[in-house]
Amino acid sequence: MTSKVLLKKTITTPVRKNVALVAHDNMKPELIEWAEKHKEKLIKHNLMATGTTGNLMQKQLKVPVQPLISGPLGGDQQLGGMIAEGKVDVLIFFWDPFEPMPHDPDIKALLRVAAVWNIPIACSVSSANFLISSPLFDSEFERRIPDYDQYLKERL
Ligand code: PGA
Repeated sequence: MTSKVLLKKTITTPVRKNVALVAHDNMKPELIEWAEKHKEKLIKHNLMATGTTGNLMQKQLKVPVQPLISGPLGGDQQLGGMIAEGKVDVLIFFWDPFEPMPHDPDIKALLRVAAVWNIPIACSVSSANFLISSPLFDSEFERRIPDYDQYLKERL
């Protein structure tokens, strides 16, 4: 069996992180409740969210949130692109396990790219609690990511 080993490099994720939040419609109340609970910690970071999730957060929590395109219109893919560009450090993604369709391709694509770039992901309240209570949430941490320059060199 041949294994594909991607060359990696280490980068430092800063104390103030770019935190992306996405919730499918049935999961929005859970995300808002969770974000309310952790507002003090969240506002120490740059928050961004897909369209409707972001609007709700701004309205309910009165916190600044960088608005992205709404998920069904391409917001999840916009976020995936930002992850690949190194513009997202943490992903809180409450996707709906009871109504995965028609989101399924977007869910897969977003989770895949988040795994490629090794960013912390939480897809449920429990995992989001683990993530936000980690000391790493409020401090620098090192993470291994694909070394794109080396990757290109090897392919040319
Ligand atoms: P929304 O997108 O925040 O615009 O509702 C979320 C999604 O459906 O992926």
